[in-house]
Amino acid sequence: MEDNKLTIVDTHMHYGTDPAVSKYTCVPYMHFGDPESVIRCLDEQGAMYGVLFPHDRPMNPPVDTTYEKANEKVAEVKIKYPNRIVAVARINPLFGRRATECHIERCAGEWGFKGIKLVASYDQYHACDIDVLAPVFEKAEEHDLTILFHSGDSHKDMPSLQAFTARHFPNVRIVLAHMGGHTGLREAIIACQENPNIYCDMAQAWPYDIKAFVRQVGTDRLTYGSDVPYQSPAVEQLKLKVIGLTPAEEEKVFAKNALRIWKID
Ligand SMILES: [Zn+2]
Repeated sequence: MEDNKLTIVDTHMHYGTDPAVSKYTCVPYMHFGDPESVIRCLDEQGAMYGVLFPHDRPMNPPVDTTYEKANEKVAEVKIKYPNRIVAVARINPLFGRRATECHIERCAGEWGFKGIKLVASYDQYHACDIDVLAPVFEKAEEHDLTILFHSGDSHKDMPSLQAFTARHFPNVRIVLAHMGGHTGLREAIIACQENPNIYCDMAQAWPYDIKAFVRQVGTDRLTYGSDVPYQSPAVEQLKLKVIGLTPAEEEKVFAKNALRIWKID
């Protein structure tokens, strides 16, 4: 990255998607199992680092329901490009404490993953189920991992439930993807105001909603995320350019906050 250019960290990248929906994606060349396609996507949007995790749902038709193979593929990208990729494991905690702990131990201990992605609605639990989530959060605390919750859309994924869990684990950094979605925006704002360990990415959020968040929470808890391959990095970046951020605020949202939240050295 040239010195005069803003360093960009894309904090919301899926490693491709499944064939049933891949024909609709905005970054169609980005494919699961093709590490170079991830680096091309970073380069094309001027990003130095990418926070990378698997597709959210089990593959269609359903295979790899534990996401172990998908996480292994993310590890391959991270191992090949350690200076560009922050690896995040997709975890379904419903396989029980022992399996969950072993899976996270492998990702964090062996491969150096820095975070865990959770989608309660797809895996059929609620984001406030402390009994279900305790093994995940305890391991996150042990390995200093960041938790990325999909937030919004479903009653199982709302920011108020995620804030409840955040209060049980105050030492774990928690990011609410999509700022709670449009319907969960106000919950996400309150969750950030009331809990110092909660942050948001703005992937897919509307400019008006991003501006409301910035006015009420500030720019220290917000990161840029593109949600590739589904969404367009050009469009997601433009949203942050049209809401009147100062250059210093832009620098925080595009990079500085992410370096801190995702422990990028
Ligand atoms: Zn996403």
